[in-house]
Formats: sequence, C-alpha cells, structure tokens
Amino acid sequence: MPNAELLTPGGLQELTAALQRATPSSRLLAGGTDLIRSMHQDHWEPDLLIDLSGVRELADVRLDHETLRIGSTTTFAELQAHPLVRRHARSLAEAAAQVGSAQIRNVATVGGNIANASPCADTVTALVALDADVHTIDGSGRSATRPLTEVLTGSGRTSLAPDEAITAVSFAALGGDRRTTFAKIGSRSTVTVARLSIALIVKFDADAGTLSEVRVALGAVGEAAFRDARLEELLEGRLADEESARLFAAGCMDAVRRSIPGRYSLPYKQHAAVGLAYDAWNALGLCDRCEPAWG
Ligand SMILES: Cc1cc2nc3c(=O)[nH]c(=O)nc-3n(C[C@H](O)[C@H](O)[C@H](O)COP(=O)(O)OP(=O)(O)OC[C@H]3O[C@@H](n4cnc5c(N)ncnc54)[C@H](O)[C@@H]3O)c2cc1C
Repeated sequence: MPNAELLTPGGLQELTAALQRATPSSRLLAGGTDLIRSMHQDHWEPDLLIDLSGVRELADVRLDHETLRIGSTTTFAELQAHPLVRRHARSLAEAAAQVGSAQIRNVATVGGNIANASPCADTVTALVALDADVHTIDGSGRSATRPLTEVLTGSGRTSLAPDEAITAVSFAALGGDRRTTFAKIGSRSTVTVARLSIALIVKFDADAGTLSEVRVALGAVGEAAFRDARLEELLEGRLADEESARLFAAGCMDAVRRSIPGRYSLPYKQHAAVGLAYDAWNALGLCDRCEPAWG
C-alpha cells in the first residue's frame, strides 16, 4: 500500500508551495522512468511526490534572442523532433533520438536526465558540449541559474537542494557555421545505455577548410560528462582533414585513459573511443570519409 503523499501543482506558484514542503526524502516526478524503476527495484518510497506534469511553464521550448531555452519536462521525443533544437543544437536532438526506446522517449524528460545524474545520460553529454546552464526554482520562490557542470557533482549526485526543481536548461543557439553531432556506443545497437558517448561541435570555415571553437564532451567515462580542453586546443585552427581525424581519435582515446585509469573497462573503452571518434568525425561531413588505421 503506497504511503507517499502526491502533490500535483498546476503552475509555477503551486510548484513553489509544494517545494516548501519537500524534505530530503521527497522526490519530484517527471516521466518516472528512473524514479519509479528505482522505487520498485530498491523497495523504497519517498515521503512526498511532486508531479511536474501539470506545470505548463516547464514544457516550453523557445529561442530568446540567441539563447535556446528548453523547459525541464520536455520529453526526448519532443527534443528529437523540435525544429528549434534540430536547427540550433542538432547534437542534442541526435542524443535524444538515441535514448532508450520510443516508449521511454515519449515520457522521459531532459530535467530528469540531468537530475538523475547518471554518467551515461545521453542528453547530458550533448548539453555539456553546448555549455548549458541549468535554471531552477526553490521552495522560497527563488530562481537561480548555474552551469550544468556545477549541478553535476558525481555519479548519481547533484548540487540540487531537496526543495529545488530544474525549470529549464539553456545555451547559446548554434549558428549555421557550426557542425555538431552526438555518437554513442553501448552493449547493443539499440535501446542501450551508453558505455561511451561523444558530443562534438566545431565552427567550420568552408573557404579555408579549417576548424575553430571546437567543443568536445565525453560521457559514460568517470563520474560525470566533461569537456576535454586539451583535445579542443589540439584541433583549434587545424584543417578538417584525415590527420585531424586521427588526432581527434587519439585524443578521445587519451581522454578515456586519463579518466578511468586502472578500471577493468579501460581497454574496451579506449578501443571503442577510436571507432566512436571516427563515427562522430565522419558525421560532421567535413571531408571525405576517414577510417581508423587499426592494427
Ligand atoms: C528501459 C530504459 C532505457 C533507458 N535508456 C536510456 C538511454 O539510452 N539514455 C539515457 O540517457 N537514459 C536512459 N534511460 C534513463 C531515463 O529514461 C532518463 O534518465 C530520463 O531522462 C529520466 O527522466 P524522467 O522524466 O523519467 O525522470 P524521473 O524518473 O521522473 O526522475 C528522475 C530523477 O530526477 C528527479 N527530477 C525529475 N525532474 C526533475 C526536475 N525538473 N528538477 C529536479 N529534479 C527532477 C526525480 O526526483 C528523480 O530523482 C533509460 C531508462 C529506462 C527505464
């Protein structure tokens, strides 16, 4: 017999009032794909469940000047199909399209993907590369904004307070001179949790054939998705050619080696990083298809 009290706020003001009652044992309920599974699997129950589905303000996707703002209850199916996301953050649409199954994508939300803080969370890797900010509201009605990388404090851990809800995530919308992609590898080809993911964004000068403002994020290695400044610097100003593809792949492999030294999965992930890096590189369509020189 369930004991958790359920609150169903109908707007931001009611959400604030509900958050006032939150304790460390309370939970927000978005799509429920992580939360309900964990309640069943681990046989526990929160004291209070706050259902976000009635808070319309959290479901909005809009372009504010040059900033793309995505409400926290936006589902992966919506992200994957939304024209603004596809135009200004293609890597995020691609990441959303690769989450779980169609049934999961229809209900699971971007806010839940962040708050659950799995190192394997696909949209989180894409959002880290996009330099995303997280917007929140708390029980006293206070709004706050901080970088996503400050919200993610470790595997399954965030800096969110028990009475704090993610309202939206935002980042600078990518212009037409950017190429961007997301690639992941798992233990199966579909409906699979990432063993490694890469999000790549470059500014491409088509006349000179060069790359700049390179952003690389890796996920499912270590505690949380991260940008690799060393690798980004290495590619800065380089021609988008086969040698750069090779450097990118070697850099991804090195990033994996530095992130999980001694881990049993290291040999597999280092090998996977090379193939995945080439997949990401080729998906940008900058030059003729490049292939790794295995062996
Ligand atoms: C079969 C299956 C396959 C999956 N495959 C993938 C996959 O391929 N890639 C991937 O990344 N994930 C995958 N997932 C994980 C899951 O779908 C995502 O993490 C999802 O984004 C969680 O969102 P939700 O809306 O369902 O969150 P919920 O389950 O409702 O909540 C998850 C946690 O976040 C908190 N929370 C939710 N919304 C907010 C908010 N707005 N503010 C603060 N806290 C909040 C909740 O309190 C809870 O602690 C899979 C899950 C399943 C069951």
